[in-house]
Amino acid sequence: MLFCDKCKSLMKKSGSKFICPNCGYEKPIEGNNLRFVSEVKERRKEVVVIDEKAKEEIDKVYSKTVAECPKCGNREAYYWFLQTRRSDEPPTRFYRCTKCNYTWREYS
Ligand SMILES: [Zn+2]
Ligand SMILES: [Zn+2]
Repeated sequence: MLFCDKCKSLMKKSGSKFICPNCGYEKPIEGNNLRFVSEVKERRKEVVVIDEKAKEEIDKVYSKTVAECPKCGNREAYYWFLQTRRSDEPPTRFYRCTKCNYTWREYS
């Protein structure tokens, strides 16, 4: 039995954690391992959200060009530049297929 840290209601067991039916507070059942796993899951969620936003930005900002997708053979792709190495070196050009969303970099 476990009581909620926030509102002192009796918490319900759900999978690997306790959930407070009153306020929604969650607590891992035991040990640091479980807490670590749930933290990793939270971080993954954030990464996915950022990635989705980045995709939207690409749709808005970057122009299309003629480039052959190595994955599906489509001949249209978005492109943008990214400074990946030292600033005195030219930036790398990236492409993203308009059909299958495969992303690749141009090797010079
Ligand atoms: Zn509560
Ligand atoms: Zn493609």
